[in-house]
Amino acid sequence: MPTSTVATGAKPLENMTYWQRTFGCQMNENDAERVAGMLEEAGALPVLTIEEADIAVFLTCCVREKADIRLMGQLASIKNIPPAHEEKRIIAVGGCIGQRDGELLHEQLEHVDVVFGTHNLASLVRLIKARIDTGLPAIETAEENEGFASSLPVRRDKPWHAWVPIMTGCDNFCTYCIVPYVRGRESSRTLEDIQRELSGLAEQGIKELTLLGQNVNSYGRDLYGKPRFAEVLAMAADCGVERVRFVTSHPKDLLTETIEAMAAHPTIMPQLHLPLQSGSDRILDAMIRKYEIAHYLELVQQLRDNIEGISLSTDIIIGFPGETEADFQQTLDVCEQVGYGQMFRFIYSKRSGTPAATMQQNATREELQNRFERLEAVAQASSLAENKREIGRTLDVLVESASKRDARVLAGKSPKNQTVHAPMPEGQDIDAFEGRIVKVRIEDATTNYLQGSLEQ
Ligand code: SF4
Repeated sequence: MPTSTVATGAKPLENMTYWQRTFGCQMNENDAERVAGMLEEAGALPVLTIEEADIAVFLTCCVREKADIRLMGQLASIKNIPPAHEEKRIIAVGGCIGQRDGELLHEQLEHVDVVFGTHNLASLVRLIKARIDTGLPAIETAEENEGFASSLPVRRDKPWHAWVPIMTGCDNFCTYCIVPYVRGRESSRTLEDIQRELSGLAEQGIKELTLLGQNVNSYGRDLYGKPRFAEVLAMAADCGVERVRFVTSHPKDLLTETIEAMAAHPTIMPQLHLPLQSGSDRILDAMIRKYEIAHYLELVQQLRDNIEGISLSTDIIIGFPGETEADFQQTLDVCEQVGYGQMFRFIYSKRSGTPAATMQQNATREELQNRFERLEAVAQASSLAENKREIGRTLDVLVESASKRDARVLAGKSPKNQTVHAPMPEGQDIDAFEGRIVKVRIEDATTNYLQGSLEQ
């Protein structure tokens, strides 16, 4: 490890190599692009494997217990990987587990050298440098958000896509969720700050942007003048980038003006992630979700009435404490009624520190498995039905890569975020298409993707 370059005043991490692994949500994906940007600005070079890396950064997630356990296992197992060069590899852990565990992480796993939290991403290079200079662990988390990652250097994973965080944290305290404890209370970026970032994106070649927040619909409540999410949407829709998406929307805070803004701007894609969690009012009440199914279904109707062909996706928790067969049947009924394009399904995972962790789980393992399989069948049928409706249409597809199965086939995303495959013309490869929006005539559909032909 070239510590001498540090002493001569060159870039602090010059001649070092880094590798990173990201778990969890889009917030972490956005943070990962900033980590790469900061490390490269500090002189470090990316490598493909941890074996080649002087610095290994883990951006962690503690939303689900299984992922948490898997990560701790991985962190323990990398201890024995020999260093890439003569000095010890620096292991840095950030994200939700860094925020939650702080010092404890180093106490449990001595080879973890640097710990940072969700609020102080900007400190990463300084902490790594402190570890190099002193040989001592550098552990720092912050209680309050120290600023939005957008002000940090970025190396985009996809050069045509930008994450634009508009708020962090959450004030909702759903009883199963650890997020408010590790991401903190809601904190919104000002409209001016968001506008500053949006205004440069089209010129940078960005074709699609995603506005990010734990609950974008409550944007601005903590700001002077209480700006609204619909204003952010309108700004993003007019910033020159061809496609605008956003996550995540809490149903209790989705306003008519937001639906109207979506309908009024063709650059806002006709797709919305609207987490249902359960189809039972009794369970929603126990989750403290603060909406009822009747209201949720009214929103769905309003969305369908205003935005032609809108595709909806959702999250469902199976087996929340107290969920009976009758509650679950209501979830199945609502899912069938809505007809989601995509459903993310999770068996309830207890997170210590949340109110639900003390509630009694009454379903057996077999019952949970059975519910999972029945929901899976509904999810597959509704995805297939939605995909089949696209047959015969010509869609604008943002090309992302070659298909994993066949390098002569391009893979991209439709406006509704469906995966689309189409063969490339003879003699052309993916470099000619990546990051471009092309027209594809859809000829066939499966549960997972649409198949079509390029229209020239
Ligand atoms: S709205 Fe509920 S589920 Fe979503 S982040 Fe906040 S507390 Fe968690």
